[in-house]
Amino acid sequence: MCPRRPRARPRRSTPPGPARAPIPERTVPAVSATSEQVAAAVADWTRSLGEDGVVTDPQAIARTVENTSRFRVRQVVAVLTPRTTEQVQALVRTAREHRVPLYPYSTGRNWGMGSKMPVRDGCALVDLGRLDAIREVDERYHYAVVEPGVTQRRLSAYLRERGLRLQLNVTGSTPDSSVVGNLVERGTGFRNHRTEDLRGAEVVLGTGELLRTGFWAEAKQPRETHHYRYGIGPHLDGLFTQSGLGLMTAAVVNLIPVQEETRMLMFSFAETELSRVMDRISELYKDGTLRWITHVFNDKRVLTMTSEERVATWTGIGAVDGSLAQVEFTSGQIRAALEECGARVAFVDREAAFAEDADPMVRGMYRLHTGEPDTVFMEGLYHTLGSESGIEGEVTELDELDHSRFGMLACLPIFPLEGEQVTEAMGIVERVCARHGLVAAVALNPIDSTCAESVINVYFDRTDEEAAGRAQRCVRTLHRELYAAGFRFYRVDIENMGQLAELDPELWAGADALKAAFDPDHIIAPGRYSRL
Ligand SMILES: Cc1cc2nc3c(=O)[nH]c(=O)nc-3n(C[C@H](O)[C@H](O)[C@H](O)COP(=O)(O)OP(=O)(O)OC[C@H]3O[C@@H](n4cnc5c(N)ncnc54)[C@H](O)[C@@H]3O)c2cc1C
Repeated sequence: MCPRRPRARPRRSTPPGPARAPIPERTVPAVSATSEQVAAAVADWTRSLGEDGVVTDPQAIARTVENTSRFRVRQVVAVLTPRTTEQVQALVRTAREHRVPLYPYSTGRNWGMGSKMPVRDGCALVDLGRLDAIREVDERYHYAVVEPGVTQRRLSAYLRERGLRLQLNVTGSTPDSSVVGNLVERGTGFRNHRTEDLRGAEVVLGTGELLRTGFWAEAKQPRETHHYRYGIGPHLDGLFTQSGLGLMTAAVVNLIPVQEETRMLMFSFAETELSRVMDRISELYKDGTLRWITHVFNDKRVLTMTSEERVATWTGIGAVDGSLAQVEFTSGQIRAALEECGARVAFVDREAAFAEDADPMVRGMYRLHTGEPDTVFMEGLYHTLGSESGIEGEVTELDELDHSRFGMLACLPIFPLEGEQVTEAMGIVERVCARHGLVAAVALNPIDSTCAESVINVYFDRTDEEAAGRAQRCVRTLHRELYAAGFRFYRVDIENMGQLAELDPELWAGADALKAAFDPDHIIAPGRYSRL
């Protein structure tokens, strides 16, 4: 039965832990180079990468770090574009020798989180986009080995063109965003949390050494290397996501075997049903009925994508796949469970999604759930500024978001998947945004029976200074008030990273210790998911 009344949550009692030593403010001073050291590093980089691998022109750098969030512009000393793993190793050794910190990115479309902008001043950017090989795809063991420049578009096209019965777990970001970049940042696809896709990593450490994880590290290659992701001994993969402990030059990425039948679940419901629906979704994960991530969007977000003029407060979307009989059975279970909570439920198959009169949002969402990247979310962003064509002025491509008028910020909390708690959190979001004269576009994405990732976006016109300042204050306050209410975050932008580090220094002590081992001179991405 769907619970009708909110339950009082039993209070947890946490026994007091052992007394902890005070955490020092910062254990090692941040690296910073003199202008002589920067000049020496640039000369060395030019030797190892070639003239076209090093950009120091201030105008070109200014264009590179322009970002949709209007974050403060940090001083950047160069943009480096290596083509090989060996060049990455060489440039890290140079950076270490001359004490110039590096800030790596894959395709640099980390919109809302800082795009290509580092946290600290004085970094050289490392654009890893030219390492763009699809090194291997294995159908039997369903994985791909890809470099940072491999985009969602290329990998999914590769699978389709070869008729492989495999699909990529794609995100709602641009088709031209990086699979590895999203993975390192611990993003979320339409099927899975992206880190669950990680089955092995090749990383250049802050010392310039190359490290591979699992059996991939072995000099004597076993019969199969990527059939078992944990290898033997410490499981290292997770160390290289959200860590700044290395530059990932390749990743082994899980691919999803395509099933006989895939249908998209769509359901909508009123604000009053949010708590009951969240509880019911948790139960559907617990009993194994739901297997993939569910995305639940508020009306503000849906209205940017659909051709409908009126929509329910919340619209949920997910995937059901398996044999035809399994899908029929599971769909029936889900329908009954959600309808009991007051939701309207529909299932969309391929034919309905691609019918001539299909809603563009439904078509786009179906593509995303079946491994085809789509621009439905990107186009929606531009529509919020009233641009009918999706792009305007000097901006001719959707991907030129960082150079457009469109401004976007994000707050990314992770909520316990319990109706009462999610409803309370949404109340905080609504109140904080209202105080700043804003309405947030929200996604609540249950990933399993225990938690829901949330994406809270505020949009603004970047040409309007007052609006930009207000949006930034709003997102800062959202972090503070959600934190004070006991909620935490799974991902954070470059500006609010410092605030989180100050709120709970103890949280970062373990990461400090790892930094000392893998990046002893703090060369890589200082301040990013780290206090150091
Ligand atoms: C409309 C819209 C929809 C979106 N939908 C989603 C979504 O569904 N899911 C989602 O997760 N995000 C989403 N995003 C956010 C973002 O665009 C994606 O997460 C995107 O994949 C990040 O950009 P990227 O792949 O170019 O990664 P990058 O910007 O290249 O990398 C992200 C960060 O990871 C680190 N990094 C990257 N590569 C390396 C490397 N090789 N070695 C070491 N460190 C590295 C760097 O710190 C970098 O800043 C969306 C954004 C928009 C505007």
